[in-house]
Amino acid sequence: MLPSRLAICLACGGRMAPCLVIAASPRCHDCRDIHAPLRADLVEPPILRLLPPLEPESEELEAA
Ligand SMILES: [Zn+2]
Repeated sequence: MLPSRLAICLACGGRMAPCLVIAASPRCHDCRDIHAPLRADLVEPPILRLLPPLEPESEELEAA
């Protein structure tokens, strides 16, 4: 089984070639050719974006 989270290019978000996924490359062929920088929003765990926003009660934590 291939890790599906590595199946996208971390620079352009496009689908990765299977050979690059196996090689654990963070970028697709096109981005490797142009040395495209990785996008932070793609590198960060996507699950963090699925969590609901925190309730506005965090001010209490600052006093602790
Ligand atoms: Zn790419």
